[in-house]
Amino acid sequence: MVYNPKSAKAEEFICHQEILDSLAYADDNKNNLQLIDEILEKAEQRKGLSHREALLLLDCQDKERNQRIFALAEQIKKDFYGNRIVLFAPLYLSNYCVNGCVYCPYHAKNKKIARKKMSQDEIRQEVIALQDMGHKRLALEAGEDPINNPIEYILDSIKTIYSIQHKNGAIRRVNVNIAATTVENYKKLKDAGIGTYILFQETYNKESYEKLHPTGPKHNYAWHTEAMDRAMEGGIDDVGLGVLYGLESYRYEFVGQLMHAEHLEAVFGVGPHTISVPRIKKAEGIDPNSFDNGIDDDTFAKIIACIRIAVPYTGMIISTRESPKVRERALHLGVSQISGASKTSVGGYAHPEPEDENSAQFDVSDNRTLDEIIYWLMKMGYVPSFCTACYREGRTGDRFMELCKSKQIQNCCHPNALMTLKEYLVDYASEQTKELGQILIQSELGNIPKEKVREFVAKHLTEIENGKRDFYL
Ligand code: SAM
Repeated sequence: MVYNPKSAKAEEFICHQEILDSLAYADDNKNNLQLIDEILEKAEQRKGLSHREALLLLDCQDKERNQRIFALAEQIKKDFYGNRIVLFAPLYLSNYCVNGCVYCPYHAKNKKIARKKMSQDEIRQEVIALQDMGHKRLALEAGEDPINNPIEYILDSIKTIYSIQHKNGAIRRVNVNIAATTVENYKKLKDAGIGTYILFQETYNKESYEKLHPTGPKHNYAWHTEAMDRAMEGGIDDVGLGVLYGLESYRYEFVGQLMHAEHLEAVFGVGPHTISVPRIKKAEGIDPNSFDNGIDDDTFAKIIACIRIAVPYTGMIISTRESPKVRERALHLGVSQISGASKTSVGGYAHPEPEDENSAQFDVSDNRTLDEIIYWLMKMGYVPSFCTACYREGRTGDRFMELCKSKQIQNCCHPNALMTLKEYLVDYASEQTKELGQILIQSELGNIPKEKVREFVAKHLTEIENGKRDFYL
């Protein structure tokens, strides 16, 4: 197979031989400090790196250069994303699944997990519970099961979610993480008003992929790997990538993922909207230690920093799979979105599950409330954001990337973050969080460069105090 980023075929744009050659190239050059310095200089221009260049940074063992890599990652994040952190929560609709993924407790042979699928009324209750916490963005999750979870069920659920307004609550952006599907179904998701379509590749190594997905439709490597192309063809121009770290060698995955980003850029002119960085977690019948490729926290941090540098305009997501400590480090290195107060069980927000009835996908390591997370973020100087304006204003795909590249985020996303944070403080925050938040908003107002925008925000902050909602630029 010849490597061809423009090819429509999975095995050509994720070319196994090119990955092996890249790994060998990095093995040969990882002590070549002159070459590493050249790559760092290129990285400092903030235009991204190729998969080979980025791998060399990932493999670099030199202490001083590694410090430069971490500092650059943090600076790139500040330059393009500012100090905002976007918040969301996953919503598990159904854990029925026909696949055989060996790392996932939803796998069809698991008889111990409690199987659940929410009715539209149960979804309503979940959404109200989420709105009452202050959430505005959701990531929908479901197992793959054409009978129990057909596309019509997902579409009905999206409609239900968008229709609910409880007190001042509203879910304004629904991202969707469901199995690879057809162009026709992606069109339907687009028409239903979804934000990002997220699909984790799990592993880019075809041989491992087929072993890890021994049965079910997900076994088909090409169908899964080419899903983002079909999503784009269906009109969804914000797509989110991810590999499940622990399944395969992290170096292989790192190169594969960047090749995937290069492919999307080459074919559609826009790279992935987000990259998530999940690691395998304990779950019903799943022991993460039974997988050979687990990575320690330092390697994990280095991967995050190198992704940040390689694709500077791509948002990065870390979930509650990780502990507060690991999440804090990741925020400094490039993560721009985090989930908060997540439940990975079906129906778990409105009705916490009894011990003997486990429907969860994995154990979470950050069990804090949303209020605690908001307080923690603000204490570190971050601006928690519930903004959903971009896709509602049609700033998706390359239009969002343009905004990011031209560093206009400070005049647009930053003000929106402040206005949505204000809504959160007025409607949901504890006294302590409210107090800290008001101080933060006052000082952050001064960081809006354009005077007109500053005035607009100040005016609308007062209107929010007076009960009005949902202002954005
Ligand atoms: N069924 C869809 C699919 O096949 O892509 C949705 C995926 S699932 C609801 C969301 C993600 O959770 C999976 O893509 C996988 O990477 C991750 N996951 C599965 N088992 C996990 C585990 N034990 N620990 C951490 N993450 C896990």
